[in-house]
Amino acid sequence: PSEAALHQVRDQFPGLHENELIYLDNAATTQKPDVVLKAMDDFYKTSNANVHRGAHRLSDLATRAFEGARDKVQAFINAPAREEVLFTRGTTESMNLLAQSLGQHLLQPGDEILIDTWAHHACIVPWQQIAAKTGAKLVPIPLLNDGELDQSAYQSLLSEKTKVVSLTHISNALGKRAPIERMIPKAKAQGAYVVIDGAQAVAHEAVDVQALGCDFYAFSGHKCYGPTGIGVLWGKRALLEQMPPYQYGGEMIDTVSFEGTQFNTLPYKFEAGTPAIAEAIGLGRALEFIQELGIDRIAAHEAALMAKAKNELAKIGKLTLLAAKGSNHGALSFNVTGEHHQDIGILLDQEGIAVRCGHHCCQPLMQSLGLKGSCRVSFALYNTEEEVDAFVSALADIVEFLDD
Ligand code: PMP
Repeated sequence: PSEAALHQVRDQFPGLHENELIYLDNAATTQKPDVVLKAMDDFYKTSNANVHRGAHRLSDLATRAFEGARDKVQAFINAPAREEVLFTRGTTESMNLLAQSLGQHLLQPGDEILIDTWAHHACIVPWQQIAAKTGAKLVPIPLLNDGELDQSAYQSLLSEKTKVVSLTHISNALGKRAPIERMIPKAKAQGAYVVIDGAQAVAHEAVDVQALGCDFYAFSGHKCYGPTGIGVLWGKRALLEQMPPYQYGGEMIDTVSFEGTQFNTLPYKFEAGTPAIAEAIGLGRALEFIQELGIDRIAAHEAALMAKAKNELAKIGKLTLLAAKGSNHGALSFNVTGEHHQDIGILLDQEGIAVRCGHHCCQPLMQSLGLKGSCRVSFALYNTEEEVDAFVSALADIVEFLDD
């Protein structure tokens, strides 16, 4: 967006103004625009009822708003069918659903699940647990020295044993983007199912699940200007039809007797109980908000902020940027030689700058890099060049202060 448009956009985020902070922790969660807060508030004020039940008008209104949100998600990721869009609590629940349901349906002793070394614990742990139960094996795709995924190792790890390939679209810890357009067809050629963790991608680039050719795609509402408590698992219909339910209860059934249960059709088979109705509506509005601004314009703005940050940070001695060769998308990690990342984060916070410090829920990645953790800055559409300048100058002062 142009600078003028940008200021208007910033004005639409009350969280940025209530707290006098330079908020550079957007990979953890984004601030929410007024339109999202209003959509949720309006739902509770004007249409609050449970969905998919009740013969009454209010329930019909609520159901239409909730199912309308599903249509918005479908359009946003270009899913072929609305029934393939499952609402979950977030990427973590999407991965648990998939690992338990697909894993139980598919995995046999000796089967392999390939997973990239960038993977978030939300991907690693569910697959690791189902692997232990089924006798399958979790096999990491290693990194090259520059932090990129080792593509030749990936190619040689793929075999007839590979049943699932789990790939991180954009790494939350490093901001690196996997060449999934090239990696997905290789897995498909081996007959493996491919799941993409899109938690860090949907706010930063256009996602088209049909063009990608993956089998499953997961993301969280709160990382793309929507509320917490809502996320998505998209999956191909034929697979979802075959997979057993993940949770059992109301909504996900067709008929129940004490002798047995017939399950509901998609997507309801995977949505037991009363869903997060207001949150789904908020997510739908957030995706529209992104589309109104234009994801390509947002990406261009964030890329400019990233280029400026990398350029300026490179001038600070004792600072190591992680995996900064090539492009970084949304997030950039760094360490200060001889200093603990947590101390840097606390000192930045004292200057009113919010960043994330730690292992970023990627302990195996940190082990592979030989690190305990890092500091991470991450950008959103409302961040400005002035904020990047303020951050770099605060960090330069901190490094100098610690040096004395
Ligand atoms: N994967 C990635 C790449 C992430 O960045 C995150 C959130 N940090 C998750 C998965 C988990 O998302 P959530 O906590 O919203 O379930």
